[in-house]
Amino acid sequence: MPTPKDASLLPAPKVILRLAVPSPLRRLFDYLAPVDLDVEQIAALTPGMRVRVPFGSRALVAVLVSLETHTEVPPARLRPALEVLDNQALLPQSLTNLYLWAAQYYQHPPGDVFHSMLPALLRQGRPAERPGKKVWQLSEAGQELTEQDLRRAPRQREIVEFLKEHEALDKSAVSEMGISASALIALQANGFIVMEERAASSPRAFDAQHSNAQALALNSEQTHAVEQIGKGLGSFQCHLLDGVTGSGKTEVYLQIIARVLEQSRQALVLVPEISLTPQTIARFRQRFACQIAVLHSGLTDSERLNAWLEARDGVAKIIIGTRSALFTPMAQPGVIIIDEEHDSSFKQQEGFRYSARDLAIVRARQEKVSIVLGSATPSLESLHNALSGRYTHLTLKERAGDAASPTLKLLDTTHEQLNEGFSAPLLEQMSSHLQRGNQVLVFINRRGFAPTLQCADCGWVAECTRCDARMTLHKKQPHLRCHHCDTRRPVDYACPNCKSKNLQALGLGTERSEAFLQSQFPDTRVLRVDRDTTRRKNELDALLNEVHQGKPCILIGTQMLAKGHHFPCVTLVAVLDADAGLFSADFRGQEHTAQLLMQVAGRSGRAGLAGEVLIQTRHATHETLRTLVSEDYGHFARALLVERRNAYMPPFSYLTLFRAEAIDMRAPETFLGIVRERAAGILAAQGNQDVALLGPLPAPMERRNGKFRAQLLLQCPQRRTLQNLLSALCPEIESMKESRSVRWSLDVDPQDMI
Ligand code: ADP
Ligand code: ZN
Ligand code: ZN
Repeated sequence: MPTPKDASLLPAPKVILRLAVPSPLRRLFDYLAPVDLDVEQIAALTPGMRVRVPFGSRALVAVLVSLETHTEVPPARLRPALEVLDNQALLPQSLTNLYLWAAQYYQHPPGDVFHSMLPALLRQGRPAERPGKKVWQLSEAGQELTEQDLRRAPRQREIVEFLKEHEALDKSAVSEMGISASALIALQANGFIVMEERAASSPRAFDAQHSNAQALALNSEQTHAVEQIGKGLGSFQCHLLDGVTGSGKTEVYLQIIARVLEQSRQALVLVPEISLTPQTIARFRQRFACQIAVLHSGLTDSERLNAWLEARDGVAKIIIGTRSALFTPMAQPGVIIIDEEHDSSFKQQEGFRYSARDLAIVRARQEKVSIVLGSATPSLESLHNALSGRYTHLTLKERAGDAASPTLKLLDTTHEQLNEGFSAPLLEQMSSHLQRGNQVLVFINRRGFAPTLQCADCGWVAECTRCDARMTLHKKQPHLRCHHCDTRRPVDYACPNCKSKNLQALGLGTERSEAFLQSQFPDTRVLRVDRDTTRRKNELDALLNEVHQGKPCILIGTQMLAKGHHFPCVTLVAVLDADAGLFSADFRGQEHTAQLLMQVAGRSGRAGLAGEVLIQTRHATHETLRTLVSEDYGHFARALLVERRNAYMPPFSYLTLFRAEAIDMRAPETFLGIVRERAAGILAAQGNQDVALLGPLPAPMERRNGKFRAQLLLQCPQRRTLQNLLSALCPEIESMKESRSVRWSLDVDPQDMI
């Protein structure tokens, strides 16, 4: 056969580009290659590249998922793409696969999955190039500084010491670690440090050297954990690191990461939203001299792109971030670590409703790396997997170092007169701890206990006009606010029902408790930590600084206090009410409440001072609560697992929740009724009897933000069976005309039923 002289003169073979296009439809879209591509350019097309395509009247940035030779789209409707935006794949194949897997499993539009996972600038079609970055370095004069020289300037000395160990300090590290800008300026003015522009391509920007000098000598449980995890590095293994608060889980992570770095691989660390604090980051930065990419919500678009590309190109050796950092590509993945794996912030609750923990396990399997799930209070799912041998179960039962574990006690308030929620014995205990010069933490489990306005004469309660919910009374700039839809209105002057002026605040709230405690303990500082007092970043820092000075004080707050922070001088933790969560309608209510209680308990007594935890309850005989207090979380969780097995709930079954809402009262239930019928039809056709269809029912909060809400629950003992149903059902729903009369969503493995 004669060979043509110039291959580019041949007609290009017809290729079909299968693309994830950002659209609300649950499918991929086929296009022809751009008309101006030659044979070589077509041959270079690789999944993971971005392609600009016409979509309706717009041009959108899509991601190439696969190249096909055949399409179902009729030739007349097949359009050519406009241009290819990358000359190599933006994503490794493993991540493209992960995104597709997630779109399928969560039944979410694939284009939207790709789009929500890419940094904004890449979504907009900008080039995938790393800008250079500015770093601080020691000058020659700076190298020669001794400790004596900066005796009077401790902040400058810290920086110099850091630079001697770490070679360079990048701009993002400065803000994350809370390094003083004025100290930097002073050092620069004196010629001790210089700012250098570092080109992005510089290969040895920071090699993975680390100063293991700081590594602590591990105790035997930690050693065992590091050995076990270390043995399996380089293959897919899942470990549950089940260690009480303060048992040194973080130290285990750090030593595992050190091993991963030695193998020239990267580590991905996911932390809950609330714990991505300067202290956490500083701990990693101080230990390791390598490049660390921190992904948090405060990044600018170009910082985020930079961090993402540094991870993808293997320049950043450690990637730390919250939920969505899971989707960061890595050149040389070595390990995935999920700290506080039980935390609900790993589940995205809107839009693309995924569990970063569950997807992390899928990713680890695909990339053949080990994954470590760490928690003092493991989720029942993970605990079940560990107990059944699917994960290795590594336990740390003792606190590390010399800190003792706190003791928990129930304070039965059935026959107690409560004063603003406080019983007399609790106030006495608080007073005695304060007198000994210690600090006290008061924890308010806010669920259902926010203060509201009530008429003392007729019982009228201020309710939101748009939700089935009570308004919350805010005292500062007095107003009523709905915490579900953010509606605000002035405080009523008289009861709208009986005209009485006898209106009272009802229920507990941090503001009221703060005022009450200040009156009870007039000589003690009362510090309130909640969303209202910490709106600005330095407000929280200032509060925490004051606590860390160690003077006696009362800290009062909500969930924000429960996680991430260490309060070494707190010796008493008072939980005002454990009952609201324990008896909530949600099937995870007990699990979440116990996790929260244990987390708060763990804040106390960290530095050799023994901690005590008092829990007020009207259900002191409640069996699971007693197990939690007299035994530990492990026993409690095992008892709860038995209940879940009997009730046929996760992890012993799998759930999917359809939600629908509409202004019209009947539309959601009507729509879900049809969904149910269709589902039943598919199940009959598939010969499937394992899926139970429950509902439609009104949602626990039936009206929210002016809309009526309903839900339909699907329950099944096998994941696969449920998936088969959903894959057939979702396309049917999308094409139903009733689906346009409501807003509907589905939640695979829902965290709550609200
Ligand atoms: P966790 O992550 O389990 O809450 P951390 O790793 O934060 O625990 O450890 C709690 C405290 O104990 C920290 O101050 C840490 O420096 C210290 N610590 C951890 N491991 C050891 C060890 N092997 N020897 C001495 N102190 C340790
Ligand atoms: Zn009234
Ligand atoms: Zn409302």
